[in-house]
Amino acid sequence: MTKQIIDPTAPETGDSMKTAQTLADLRATIDAWRRQGLTVGFVPTMGALHEGHFSLVRQSAETADRTVVSIFVNPKQFAPGEDLATYPRNEARDLAMIAEASCNLAWLPTPEVMYPPGYQTSVSVSDVSQGLCGASRPHFFGGVATVVCKLLNQVRPTHAIFGEKDFQQLLVIRRMVRDLDMDVKILGGPIVREPDGLAMSSRNAYLSAEERRIAGNLNRVIAEMATQLEVGVATEDVISSGRKAIIDAGFPSIDYLDIRHVEDLSRAPAGRLLAEARVFVAVQLGRTRLIDNWPAAPKP
Ligand code: AMP
Repeated sequence: MTKQIIDPTAPETGDSMKTAQTLADLRATIDAWRRQGLTVGFVPTMGALHEGHFSLVRQSAETADRTVVSIFVNPKQFAPGEDLATYPRNEARDLAMIAEASCNLAWLPTPEVMYPPGYQTSVSVSDVSQGLCGASRPHFFGGVATVVCKLLNQVRPTHAIFGEKDFQQLLVIRRMVRDLDMDVKILGGPIVREPDGLAMSSRNAYLSAEERRIAGNLNRVIAEMATQLEVGVATEDVISSGRKAIIDAGFPSIDYLDIRHVEDLSRAPAGRLLAEARVFVAVQLGRTRLIDNWPAAPKP
């Protein structure tokens, strides 16, 4: 069923947003756009949208004639015991906000539409999915690659935009698209942060007031680590002082804190930074897992 959200009588000019819940409705709208020679930008999300998502929607609207946003909480990227059942959901607000950000079509598949009975296929991307989030969430990138592969086949966008907040995910998708000869351009969007620098995330809603205060320190530590790398401090010293700063800031433990090259996520060797890299961090704070990353260029 395709229904008009803002103005049911409006012509299909891009000024009003439609929703689609079946593949037939999705394809009817997108096929019509393609026949008109329009370019299509795509932003996949899991809903509970915030300014980080809206920035990607606006980026798409600036680069494509039409923008599609999917909202789908993908069961395949949650392990048993993770927060699939409690993942924040607020579809009515999400739809109003993306319409405001110039989305033309919201794709809202149900789990049954995405994975109908008898579904058997999965996509896995090897090396770049290992380590960092792939180490503590071994199921995760397979679930992401599978759903994004399906979403790209469903929407067939000209380009798709992914946030640099999930930098490893962005590289996994780039690798998959290259390896499977998928005809879509993958773009990255910059990390959008709260006023204290905390990277925006749907899961930040889980934080208690005290945890939220502590969480604001994570970006400061990795930004400082990037500064140290850029003035030539050895990577191993930067990591050990960064670990101490994170624990001193009140985080109970660190999942990972590492310096990886931006092209392939290979680990920056000991000594001075020699190639463009990012500081990557993940911590568990109460029931909330926080991830963040910060760019660091080698000293000229
Ligand atoms: P999610 O709904 O968490 O699966 O995220 C959907 C998309 O939004 C992904 O490409 C994320 O990387 C991106 N995203 C999430 N948070 C941010 C943020 N704070 N800044 C930029 N992009 C983000």
